[in-house]
Amino acid sequence: MRTLNPARPVAQALAIKDGLILDLGSNEEILGLANEYTRVIDLEGLTLMPGFVDPHTHLIFAGQREFELPMKQSGASYLEILASGGGILNTVRATRNASREELVMAATARLDRMLAFGTTTAEAKSGYGLDKDTELKSLEAIAELAKTHTVELVPTFLGAHAVPEEYKGAPDDYIEFVISDVLPEVAARKLAEFCDIFCEKGVFSVDNSRKLLSAAQKAGLGLRIHSDEIVRLGGTALAVELGAVSASHLMQTSDQEFEGMAERGVIAELLPATPFALMEKEYPRARAMIEAGVPVALSTDLNPNCWTESMQFVIALAAYNMKLHPSEALAAATRNAAFAINRADTVGSLEVGKQADVLVLDAKNHLTIPYHFGVNLIETVIKKGKIVLGEKNLP
Ligand SMILES: [Zn+2]
Repeated sequence: MRTLNPARPVAQALAIKDGLILDLGSNEEILGLANEYTRVIDLEGLTLMPGFVDPHTHLIFAGQREFELPMKQSGASYLEILASGGGILNTVRATRNASREELVMAATARLDRMLAFGTTTAEAKSGYGLDKDTELKSLEAIAELAKTHTVELVPTFLGAHAVPEEYKGAPDDYIEFVISDVLPEVAARKLAEFCDIFCEKGVFSVDNSRKLLSAAQKAGLGLRIHSDEIVRLGGTALAVELGAVSASHLMQTSDQEFEGMAERGVIAELLPATPFALMEKEYPRARAMIEAGVPVALSTDLNPNCWTESMQFVIALAAYNMKLHPSEALAAATRNAAFAINRADTVGSLEVGKQADVLVLDAKNHLTIPYHFGVNLIETVIKKGKIVLGEKNLP
């Protein structure tokens, strides 16, 4: 059963050995484990916490769309920008024209920033190809980055992110193409652990979502869905029906659907940077979800329309705009986020036997993390027991 466990101080000190957390306890207990080869680091006055897990990123894309900001300021909606040839289809053209190496290079810069802001594990989606070659190229880029970059990656196939221009007005045909031509190769080459779809009015219907996700499930992939961002179509109910690991956005989701999610353990992936970037006043009803027993995870939704690599910023947005208690927001950005990408056995909390993915923050306590916002509080990042960033900040 996946539940939201508010983060709480667990120990004064921790011991790391062979990349794993060996023990947690009082200073005396942990110092008692040291021998002549042990490096002892005094972090008095700083906060230690598990590395952030970002369970929803559109990591692979080419180009950028800063020119849309003034359009948004003058009141153009996401669907209007999309209809005028901007938005996602603009990024699709740039991504199709980019080589795999160019995609890897652009994503490396993003992953470097994610790591600098404390993200040690992240999900990464394809979805700006919308043709077979570019979707495969994007997933190959993720596979390469998973081998070369410190940030641990979990790949998701999002071939059904939008209807490409070649299939304009024919989403059914596009879904058939994805199911018959692209998904089998993604599954056979094990290029993705999850399949995702953008279930939204004017994009993919609930029927199309059911077709693709059912096929993906048969092919052995886990399921995720973008649902209820703009219009409540029934994508969240579908997530419950199919036992998806997570449903994301959930701006319009009903109380009844929250109950279904709580019963089935479908994790709500909340992406507060998205309404922020769209200049919307409404945020997902996180408090109602938590009260209904829905496990809540937080994510950046990093993409060309909402470009942030900072889970610290997302935590601040969650605290100020969705009224998540700092401890709830931290649990949502670590432990629950790890559940949302099937990595809860290894990352997402400081527990004996888990990977030593540890952050050292210049924060007096966990309440300080959303309280002192708009800055990077990270002093040091440890991944699998190795200091990968900020060695010089240690005493
Ligand atoms: Zn998304």
